[in-house]
Amino acid sequence: MNKPVPNIIDGRHVAALIREEVRQDVHDWVNSGNRAPKLQVVLVGGNQASKVYVGAKTRACEEVGILSETLMLPDTTSEKILKEHIAKYNDDPTIDGILVQLPLPAHMTPLAVIESIDHRKDVDGFHPMNVGRLTIGQPCYRSCTPAGIMELLKYYSLSAKSKDVVVVGASNIVGSPAAIMLSRENDEGKATTTLCHKYTRDLTRHTIGADILIVAAGVPGLITGQMVKEGAVVIDVGMNRVADPSVDRGYRLVGDCDYDSVAEKASWITPVPGGVGPMTVAMLMKNTLLAAKKAVYP
Ligand code: NAD
Repeated sequence: MNKPVPNIIDGRHVAALIREEVRQDVHDWVNSGNRAPKLQVVLVGGNQASKVYVGAKTRACEEVGILSETLMLPDTTSEKILKEHIAKYNDDPTIDGILVQLPLPAHMTPLAVIESIDHRKDVDGFHPMNVGRLTIGQPCYRSCTPAGIMELLKYYSLSAKSKDVVVVGASNIVGSPAAIMLSRENDEGKATTTLCHKYTRDLTRHTIGADILIVAAGVPGLITGQMVKEGAVVIDVGMNRVADPSVDRGYRLVGDCDYDSVAEKASWITPVPGGVGPMTVAMLMKNTLLAAKKAVYP
């Protein structure tokens, strides 16, 4: 008997549609006499993955007509100096969005840095003001990766309403906001949501019941087919570099799911790469345009 083939949730395709929509909106916005939106990016240190992410974000800006500038600071920069730059950007009326690429060097306190960004320019949606407003269903900038997951579910008509959703990984930037978005009664979520993390006693007991399983733990191969319900929708957020001498760059990207065994059970699945990753950047473009239009905080 042939193995069942899951439907692929194509993040590259959906992200391209969103970027095109933003490009058109930016074009109309500028044609109506407004200045082009501007994103200020700050990169501290030489983290290779961060450089790749920042490159992808600034290329996307260029594609959709958003201006962007990247300030590169050395690893040794003090938190005080970084905050001085942020304060300057907060006060600059030509800058709509500010993005400080994470992770920051170990001597810095990420939350203190994020809190120093004006929440009205926090297009990453990490500021406690935005997270708090998300929690109570108020307009806010929504963290780009979970917002991208919500867009994927919407695009493929995979409604979470009344479903059992399990989120594995409870970080402030992916798992927790994803669980909040999915569990809100008055928003598009409306799911019964379980949030698992490294202290969860028996992960399979939870994952096996999930109609929609979202995995954002940063552990390659954490979820295997045996942990997944037949017909589940599986969103693999993980982006892990594993060494692979057979490719030029020396590594390949894998998710948190053991793709082959999970694909045998899932009705829908995101590939890695090409699933959630491109959506994060597309949602950042959307948030930056919202910031320019002062659509969230008039
Ligand atoms: P994080 O390290 O901040 O948090 C990981 C979470 O997973 C924690 O809540 C931890 O308790 C939980 N966890 C770890 N091991 C676990 C285990 N064995 N069982 C259950 N839970 C476990 O990670 P993060 O920043 O949320 O990122 C998670 C993954 O998503 C990483 O691979 C990251 O690269 C990827 N990511 C992808 C995108 C994207 O755009 N696709 C964006 C952000 C993060």
